Amino acid sequence: MATFQLQPAHDATTERLYRAAVVHAFKAPLSLDDVRAPELAAGQVRVRVEASGLCHTDIHAAHGDWPVKPSPPFIPGHEGVGIVTELGPGVTEVAVGDRVAMPWLGYACGTCDHCVSGWETLCLEQKNMGYSIDGGFGEEAVAYARYVVKVPEGLDPFDAAPLTCAGVTTYKAVKVAGTRSSNLVAVFGVGGLGHLAIQYAAIAGGRVIAVDVLDEKLDLALELGAEFTVNAAKEDPVEAIQRLGGADQAIALAVSPKAFEQAYGSLRRGGTLVFVALPADNEVKVPIFETVLNGITIVGSIVGTRADLREVFELHAAGRTHVTREIRPLAEVNQAIADVEGGRVAARIVFEP
Ligand SMILES: [Zn+2]
Ligand SMILES: [Zn+2]
Repeated sequence: MATFQLQPAHDATTERLYRAAVVHAFKAPLSLDDVRAPELAAGQVRVRVEASGLCHTDIHAAHGDWPVKPSPPFIPGHEGVGIVTELGPGVTEVAVGDRVAMPWLGYACGTCDHCVSGWETLCLEQKNMGYSIDGGFGEEAVAYARYVVKVPEGLDPFDAAPLTCAGVTTYKAVKVAGTRSSNLVAVFGVGGLGHLAIQYAAIAGGRVIAVDVLDEKLDLALELGAEFTVNAAKEDPVEAIQRLGGADQAIALAVSPKAFEQAYGSLRRGGTLVFVALPADNEVKVPIFETVLNGITIVGSIVGTRADLREVFELHAAGRTHVTREIRPLAEVNQAIADVEGGRVAARIVFEP
């Protein structure tokens, strides 16, 4: 297979410009720049962005928080949704006019052991939207046709955007957790991801305990199908969940190692802890003795595949999930980031370019 090389938009040679939010230096505010639209390489499509969600990962990218860092300048965004306007050479997977989602998994090799066994999200050749290739925080974006996912007719692009990362990530986490009817599922963190995790755990048949430190978020959790809530600022979630018998599965979505430790402590014997959130502080303390004697499983879950995202869209189109989001202009990207960091956002911010 050919190796595709995506030129960063700001280095390309065509003269047409589009507006995008660009990270020039870690921890500096993003700037709204007119960047050059790159020419399409084989397998690529151009997408006119209609909606683009703000994920915590975008903030970590802009801060350079993680061990593997993006290289500025780059355009964040891996919840971009929009209309295909142009096809690069050889594209057959989508047509001009299709509405597509451009997820974190922007490209994978398609032939390695991971790719051919349905674990394309583990491909070592992968490229990630808004991280290693430019993402959806702009009026347009370039994506690989094989890795975009068509958005079903009638699905609101402002709902589709958060589903493209927050949705598929939590849907996959519930799959990996193995939740089935009668299981008690503890969801730690009720934000952009958590509010969807609660719904997927309930759809899988689980009884959901939502844990957060803000009462408004716990009220939202109850509206979305949680049966129990614990405010971790007011009571110990480990004790509260153990009083209920302990969680069969705990899903760690809060960007704090302490929440991961509490999630571990909330498990019943034989329970499963799913690591999903990626705190800047990369260490968590877990006891060996109890893990062995209690038969605990700890598993990491990274986003989801194209097949998972199709299922997420199908569930939403069938009216089985609700996306809590607010729309803001992309020009307010820095304020939006500050509001997410300050915990002042109910669930998800979706930008309109
Ligand atoms: Zn994300
Ligand atoms: Zn691969």
